[in-house]
Amino acid sequence: MAGWTLTLKNLLLPCFCKRCDARLLTEENGFYCPTCWESSPRLERPFCSLCGRPHRGMAGFGTLSNFPCADCRAMNPKRRYARRIVGAAQYDDVIGEAIRWFKFKGKTRLVEPLAGEMRVFAERELDDCYAAVIPVPLHRVRLRERGYNQAHLLAHELLPQFPGAKLVQALERIRPTRTQSTLREPAARRANVRGAFAVVPAAADRLSGNAVLLIDDVVTTGETVHECARVLRRAGVEAVDVFAAALAVDRLSQTPEPW
Ligand SMILES: [Zn+2]
Ligand SMILES: [Zn+2]
Repeated sequence: MAGWTLTLKNLLLPCFCKRCDARLLTEENGFYCPTCWESSPRLERPFCSLCGRPHRGMAGFGTLSNFPCADCRAMNPKRRYARRIVGAAQYDDVIGEAIRWFKFKGKTRLVEPLAGEMRVFAERELDDCYAAVIPVPLHRVRLRERGYNQAHLLAHELLPQFPGAKLVQALERIRPTRTQSTLREPAARRANVRGAFAVVPAAADRLSGNAVLLIDDVVTTGETVHECARVLRRAGVEAVDVFAAALAVDRLSQTPEPW
């Protein structure tokens, strides 16, 4: 937006940071001031090389190499269908709140700052080795209610970061599921998503033998993305990496959603 139109807009329709009430004087993201946005915890090395969660007590050693956490080492490897899961930020604080505005309150312009965080992370941590960028799908009833799939919007914004990949809507949600964060028991979460996804037949041939990047807004326990990865792998996909805007670092302690 040109300088004078921005000045005029700020005069007529002042915007305030949703966290600290500071007047927003730039187009940053229209919701949060740069200070609040920057204060939200990102995910930086060292983090678990399998589930992407930070190793407690080791923050600030940015150049350390990653290694699997105790939870991942204890997990049955047969149930780990995704090769790795990574996220740009913790699902906490301002970025957690921004994701809820983005997902449940129709504030789709938050896709830009959220995808921006993912781009910064991807530059550091991900290679351009994927044949496809695949959004986690919504069931058609939920899609109709919401009007957009937040994972698809993120995938679309991220695509230029992966010049070797195409955006492929390779998955569909074939039965409605409850929002995972309303379920606390891991077994209930697993049952909720089991059999909920199918690979679109036209996509299967194109993806067979390739590595793909699955995109979601938030990964909590990982049941949803592992189930997506399971059906993709069964359709012949060689490897599924998962990339989310945010990871719930304490897997089951999140507030139930939607608000
Ligand atoms: Zn603020
Ligand atoms: Zn882990």
